[in-house]
Amino acid sequence: VRRIEEVEALSAEPDDRAPSTGAGRGAPAADVAPNAVVNGYPGGGPAAEVAVAFRAVRFRYAPDGPDVLSGVDFDVPVGGMTALVGPSGAGKSTVFALLERFYEADSGVVEFAGRDVRDLSIPQLRADLGYVEQDAPVLSGTLRENLLFAAPDASAAQLAEAMEQTRLNDLVSRLPDGLDTPVGHRGMNLSGGERQRIAIARALLRRPRVLLLDEATSALDGLNELSLRDAIAEVARVSTVLIIAHRLSTVTMARQILLLDGGRIRARGTHAELIDSDDLYRTLAMTQLLDAESGSVRRTATAS
Ligand code: ADP
Ligand code: MG
Repeated sequence: VRRIEEVEALSAEPDDRAPSTGAGRGAPAADVAPNAVVNGYPGGGPAAEVAVAFRAVRFRYAPDGPDVLSGVDFDVPVGGMTALVGPSGAGKSTVFALLERFYEADSGVVEFAGRDVRDLSIPQLRADLGYVEQDAPVLSGTLRENLLFAAPDASAAQLAEAMEQTRLNDLVSRLPDGLDTPVGHRGMNLSGGERQRIAIARALLRRPRVLLLDEATSALDGLNELSLRDAIAEVARVSTVLIIAHRLSTVTMARQILLLDGGRIRARGTHAELIDSDDLYRTLAMTQLLDAESGSVRRTATAS
């Protein structure tokens, strides 16, 4: 009981830190706070808390090139999922690149937890933003080594929690040597969905405050697609996720969708709101072609 009170006291503090993900917390009692439903949003802190914000951000890659982002404004609230969608070339990956400070805005401000990212240390910023790439690499070595690569000191309980959240237990039970099965180069063949779930678990073990996820677009069979969707939903339930989404099944569970087009936020809202209000969104959603670069989705759409 003592422990639970401490956890609640901690999370109730007016702190500019977003709650970290539930993954990686060893004490069972720590599960209580992140699972709380606040202001109707699972996993959230108060609605006023902002994890990430873009304020009138303008950016171009080359000094004489075109604006790739022009006047982009949005808030990512703490807790739950915000999805970035839009046609190929709209600027979605650029939003992530500015957040990670691979580049800096030409004007406007990019904020993390209420602070200009230019005032934060880059290693700390990148540790706070767990970034899962679209084609997440599986490293050579065993599954265990893959998961613990960036968090060698994670406890067995933390590892079990991350695996539970990312639905990796089914995979492990199928592997001949469980967690000690070689999976990387010349190891077991893994599907795109399995690779991304491993990458998500790997990121969670570093306890990021926000998970940046570039959703896998590779063709997934039904079961793998379902497991990946469940994993993403579970992570969004207990922490803050900003996702570049390609799948309709992902965006429908977002608390906020930002539709990016030609470097501007064209529309924002829930799936139902955007279906009602925006032609481009309706077209993208109908074809399940939320990002034109996701060829597998296009093939699926035309095949059916
Ligand atoms: P999305 O992820 O929505 O497909 P991107 O953010 O990758 O869009 O790209 C937005 C625009 O910026 C595109 O026109 C793209 O060609 C251009 N772009 C992306 N990366 C670079 C880069 N490193 N150098 C120059 N132009 C780039
Ligand atoms: Mg992209």
